[in-house]
Amino acid sequence: MVREIVIYGAPVLREKCVKVEQVSREIEELAADMVETMYDAQGVGLAAPQVGEAVQLAVVDIGADRDDVTFVRVDGEDVGLSELMPLIFFDPEVEGGSERESMEEGCLSIPELRASVRRPAAIKASLSLLDGRRIQLECDGLLSRAIQHEVDHLNGILFIDRLSSAAKLRARRELKRMFG
Ligand SMILES: [Zn+2]
Repeated sequence: MVREIVIYGAPVLREKCVKVEQVSREIEELAADMVETMYDAQGVGLAAPQVGEAVQLAVVDIGADRDDVTFVRVDGEDVGLSELMPLIFFDPEVEGGSERESMEEGCLSIPELRASVRRPAAIKASLSLLDGRRIQLECDGLLSRAIQHEVDHLNGILFIDRLSSAAKLRARRELKRMFG
């Protein structure tokens, strides 16, 4: 079922989400709905607070063919993107590498606004999956970017919080124009 996407200004987008810990039927349904909602909105990622649920669950699908992703490793083994997408994960812990890069980001909860955000280029992440596994994922490119963006959501952080001060001013003006 496609759920309604919560838009900028909703308090739930600023909440620190609680851990999932135990996969219930409700969590499985929420995850399935989130994947459907993400595809429906043509996004590459969606976090549970974006559909009004303040739990540490997120989904990502960047497609299987991305030149900017130069490596994807699960528990130290190389894997193809097609094996991993859609990636549904909960209770993540993410560590960014020291090299940083700028990439343009948008957010389904902040329609029409896009801006360049500086983040670690590569990450190491511990992610829990619905099948009970806890995996160590290492990757770069858009996959690294999307995971960092979604994990921020689980901590009540939006990409506009991570802009340079000049870009933040521009974004604030835009947001004011759009949301009053
Ligand atoms: Zn977002």
